[in-house]
Amino acid sequence: MPVGIAGLDLDSLPRSRASTPGAEWALTRQAGVLRLVVLARAEGRHLLDGLEGETTSETGGTLLVGPASPRNAAALRRHLDWLRPRPLGTRTSAGMGDRLGLATPGHVRAVRAVGGGIAPVFAQQSIREMARTGRTPIEVMDDATWGIFEEGWKEGVGADADHLKSPVDVDGCLAAGFSLFTIDPGEQVDSSADTADTSSLRAKTAALPWADLEDTETALRKRFLGRTFTVEHLRIRFDEATLLRAAAKYGRAVAHVAKMGRHLCRSAGGRAVELEVSVDETETATAPAEHYWVASELVRLGVSWVSLAPRFVGRFEKGVDYIGDLAALETDMAAHAAIAREMGPYKLSLHSGSDKFSVYPIAARQARGLVHLKTAGTSYLEALRTVAGVDPALFREIYAFARERYETDRASYHVSAGVDRAPLPAAVGDAALAGVLDQFDAREILHVTFGSVLKETGPDGPRFKGELYRLLRAHPEAYARNLEAHFERHLRPFVG
Ligand code: ZN
Repeated sequence: MPVGIAGLDLDSLPRSRASTPGAEWALTRQAGVLRLVVLARAEGRHLLDGLEGETTSETGGTLLVGPASPRNAAALRRHLDWLRPRPLGTRTSAGMGDRLGLATPGHVRAVRAVGGGIAPVFAQQSIREMARTGRTPIEVMDDATWGIFEEGWKEGVGADADHLKSPVDVDGCLAAGFSLFTIDPGEQVDSSADTADTSSLRAKTAALPWADLEDTETALRKRFLGRTFTVEHLRIRFDEATLLRAAAKYGRAVAHVAKMGRHLCRSAGGRAVELEVSVDETETATAPAEHYWVASELVRLGVSWVSLAPRFVGRFEKGVDYIGDLAALETDMAAHAAIAREMGPYKLSLHSGSDKFSVYPIAARQARGLVHLKTAGTSYLEALRTVAGVDPALFREIYAFARERYETDRASYHVSAGVDRAPLPAAVGDAALAGVLDQFDAREILHVTFGSVLKETGPDGPRFKGELYRLLRAHPEAYARNLEAHFERHLRPFVG
């Protein structure tokens, strides 16, 4: 494509340039605004159908310059197949959720920096966080599309519709082009089974939805009771308490996953999609025998899945390192990884995986490549780090507001920060502000209050949101650099 055509600076985002038979494609950024540029030769003229923008005749063909709009994003995914999310299978993978929708370029650079070896998921958001950030599945998809296109990542991507709870959630994300569907039956998990005595476990088991499970209690007992299953180094023995506890705790969850999985298969028709099962957001840890039981029952019900997120021992709090005994975690992960190899193979999925730097070597060692790392809010924290660098006053204001909101907003998260332990906004000088993001309490406080920060309104509309986006769009390189450095630390332990 000729440089400087129609007065456009086509060298502004050189990695975006792509060629397909009949056309050249690129992105430019002018005054912070992305524009799609397509030069179609005579034989590729039809490629412009469905794209919106201004067209002019140039010597090389027809030139279209258009907005980074939903319509153009959809057309790009149609014409450039590397932008279309696809199943990633059992390759080592990482999901990099992006609450603001501007992080993908930095994520791509981090995946590149570690030299491939990680299959990336750039579009990833839970229904809960779409609600909190006021974004729709298609907006999440489109933001990732533009970022992938801008950075010229052509090695393929997945897209994760995370923590889906109902068939309606599945349909909305399917329509938007997601390829990985994370089914979260957390509401169906009965964590009280962990401490229940045998008589109440019997009562809980009797009350399971046996028809949905296509099973009877008698048949269940026959399959498991008194049996020992050998899985690599493990001997998993089902005495009555172990069996009934697994069934009482996870029976309804298994039925729910089967129902959601069948719905997904039906709705997807011939499209290739994959499924993850996540029980990470439950009160109590998933015992290896329980994991084994869940996997056996899902297999019996004909569900296939690519990854599973148990609730591991210890605390995976948001945006901070693991809290707990690393040796105990390693024993736990070794058991879960062995079960995942035996019963699948499928990947172990590490949810709340942001900033778990002490866990990565353990997960890499035990999962032996069969692992999916999932991070979400940490990219927002890197956005705030970028803000702290370019507009200390705005960062200080956001931080002060987050401290006020924390006690309310923490309710649905696993966090333990105390406002009284976090530095006072006025006590930190401008040069040290970014360091607030490295203090445990402040980090969690900023992490869980993102929804309130984005939604807060002042007399003239949104109080922070507009300015936050304006700054990040004005400093895309600073944001991408912060993200690249931060994610390289996440991904490096999993390659080679
Ligand atoms: Zn999760």
